[in-house]
Amino acid sequence: MKFIKEETREIPVYTSPDVVVIGAGPAGIGAAISAARNGAKVLLVERYGFLGGNLTIAMVNPMFTFHDIKGKQVIRGIAGELVERLVDLKSSQGHVTDLTFDNASMTPFDPEGMKYLLFQMVKEAGVELLLHTWAVGATTEKGKITSVIIENKSGRQAIVPRYVIDCSADADIATWAGAPFVKGREKDGAMQPVTLFFRIGGINMTNLRIWMKNNRDLLKDSPTDDEIDSSKAIAFLGLKQLVKMGMEKGEFPKDAAPRILFYELPQEGQIAVNATRLQGIDGTNAADLTRAEYETRKQAWEIHKFLQKYVGGFDESYILDTGAQVGVRETRRIRGDYQLTEQDVLSNRAFEDGIACGTFAIDIHPPEGEQQIFTGSGKAVYEIPYRSLLPQKLDNLLVAGRCISATHTAFGSARVMATCMAIGQGAGLAMANLVQQGGGDVRSVDVAALRKQLIEQGQYLLGMPDEQPADSSLALNKVDSSGATASHHNPFKDKAHG
Ligand SMILES: Cc1cc2nc3c(=O)[nH]c(=O)nc-3n(C[C@H](O)[C@H](O)[C@H](O)COP(=O)(O)OP(=O)(O)OC[C@H]3O[C@@H](n4cnc5c(N)ncnc54)[C@H](O)[C@@H]3O)c2cc1C
Repeated sequence: MKFIKEETREIPVYTSPDVVVIGAGPAGIGAAISAARNGAKVLLVERYGFLGGNLTIAMVNPMFTFHDIKGKQVIRGIAGELVERLVDLKSSQGHVTDLTFDNASMTPFDPEGMKYLLFQMVKEAGVELLLHTWAVGATTEKGKITSVIIENKSGRQAIVPRYVIDCSADADIATWAGAPFVKGREKDGAMQPVTLFFRIGGINMTNLRIWMKNNRDLLKDSPTDDEIDSSKAIAFLGLKQLVKMGMEKGEFPKDAAPRILFYELPQEGQIAVNATRLQGIDGTNAADLTRAEYETRKQAWEIHKFLQKYVGGFDESYILDTGAQVGVRETRRIRGDYQLTEQDVLSNRAFEDGIACGTFAIDIHPPEGEQQIFTGSGKAVYEIPYRSLLPQKLDNLLVAGRCISATHTAFGSARVMATCMAIGQGAGLAMANLVQQGGGDVRSVDVAALRKQLIEQGQYLLGMPDEQPADSSLALNKVDSSGATASHHNPFKDKAHG
């Protein structure tokens, strides 16, 4: 038997908010806070028991990237506030120079501090929360979402909102409501690999720093003594030869990334490791995800053992924790009214309806093989147009976060957490404006007014007077070596922006 027929049934309406936001990752947090602060009655629905999406659930670290190459902060607003409050909580070192890739800045943080603070921020904004709840479907009528179907321990219920913001990362609501989408790479649907982040505690950081100085040639761009000593957050990328040898000897998992990458966290002796990897996983397929959870967790233990054997400082260390779920980089993206392109990203494109900036590199972890694409971060600062948030065929839905309308390549840049939160802020304010004006199609938003308000509310957009001086301490001094020592391909070298 391939199918069974499910009985139609009546289900209770849980609530009827102005705006329901599905998914409390960086995009959902930005959207919910922004909509609520601007007067909308907002319900934020999340399948886990805490907020943050990849910030906490998948324990992705650090946040990328708030600054352009000259050190000017181009993502501000709610994401900027979040960092300031994390620093006050001693849950982040703040924005620091990255010793791994040539990122304009990186912003490491403690995921537990993040969990605590996100609850404070959504509560202060007056957002209503419904946790432990999956959105599982949507009903539509004449191009409008009439309800979002949810399931949780209380059973199956409906939310009947005026507007929906889909921040599920997988465009779940848009898909169920019949909006067109693409998955992965245009030519074959292949998606970036998944990675389970894990934290290691109990590291002797003094010994690690000594080891790094003695083995700098094994690290990308060979950091200097001064860089290693003065960094508030050691970032470590390299060991390619050692990893290759480990793979050959069966001491390093053969499917994992062919290098070690980790970031020092604010709590003494802790790092976040980005080194497990599994290719060929579809993050919208539960059987694939099940396999990924098992395989990558096994990899994490093997990688820790490898670090203990070959890298200084790890003798007394232990695996502190692994993400509550494997991190999924890429799945569905809507086909919106506008599709952000690689050219937009690389040409610093501004849009009349730009609602957020992005400045991270185009960073594409290889769906197969080993050729990672990394263009260099902070060199281009581009805008994300409001039209990329508009799913075709629907009038009361916006998407925000990594499932906006973008090509596979442009997505490689726009997908990072600071950018996603900024996109969310723009979406939330647009919805609040519709509520304030008494309703209307998402395409009726006055985008010029929206941009003006975003700037008034602390966001940065291209073309605004640059009242904030560039912070020269964040300026990169290794731009020319981008891609020189790792396997990164650097298309900037071949383009006008080199
Ligand atoms: C391994 C890995 C490494 C990365 N490295 C970095 C990095 O170093 N720095 C960086 O800035 N970015 C990094 N990224 C990218 C970044 O983490 C994501 O692209 C970003 O978090 C996307 O934000 P989002 O809000 O769209 O989605 P998410 O962060 O995925 O949040 C989506 C939220 O929606 C919830 N949800 C999903 N479906 C439903 C549903 N049906 N019902 C209810 N709730 C639902 C989820 O539980 C989650 O809370 C990395 C990603 C991965 C996977």
